[in-house]
Amino acid sequence: CGIVGYIGHRDAYPIIIKGLERLEYRGYDSAGVALYDGANINLAKTKGKVEELKKKAKKTISLNGSLGIGHTRWATHGVPNDVNSHPHYSNSGNLVIIHNGIIENYESVKKELIKRGYTFESDTDTEVLVNLIEEVQKTEGVKLGKAVQIALNQVVGAYAIAVFDRKKPDEIVVAKLGSPLAIGIGENEFFIASDASPFIEFTNNAVYLEDEEMAIVRLGKEIKLRKIKDDAIA
Ligand code: GLU
Repeated sequence: CGIVGYIGHRDAYPIIIKGLERLEYRGYDSAGVALYDGANINLAKTKGKVEELKKKAKKTISLNGSLGIGHTRWATHGVPNDVNSHPHYSNSGNLVIIHNGIIENYESVKKELIKRGYTFESDTDTEVLVNLIEEVQKTEGVKLGKAVQIALNQVVGAYAIAVFDRKKPDEIVVAKLGSPLAIGIGENEFFIASDASPFIEFTNNAVYLEDEEMAIVRLGKEIKLRKIKDDAIA
């Protein structure tokens, strides 16, 4: 039930792991991390504690990269196991998402996506959302921020999400309805978390998203805050 993300110039992995540990009080059954190493996304996730995630990540993936997202899951859709843990990839492998909350209409969206050729590894509502975002990207030819916005207008539920695109690794898109989400603003770096505890040692400049608000967190830019229901986003 925790979200941590980082984009900037430091190693993302230790920030994410420490952040997830600070959010452990929120309770969880699984943990995971996805890191962008400059070319590829490296992902490790596991049922169990952050401690287990650390062991698995060390053994199985490169821990390099200054962009990444991490998650502690409190299962709502699909049992707690490795596959259902977050982050989740989209079918192309380019998008990766973490999500706290529930997508209530995920079954009907999933059926529609299956008709369009999508396949699913997990039983989660979250994997449906990341593929809906990918489908919007493809069919509408829009940027990630716009795709997230359009997708969120098609789902019913509660969420805090963070998603990034391997093909556009200078930004993380976040959105919130129901679950908390904070953005820490540093010097050419940004932190994302369920509360400020993962980043207070780095910055005290924080923005808390309101419900139905999303943000495009892009390196070298001011944070772009948008209403999810507002279609002015470009
Ligand atoms: N509904 C999602 C799942 O079951 C997210 C749960 C959470 O808030 O951690 O995977």
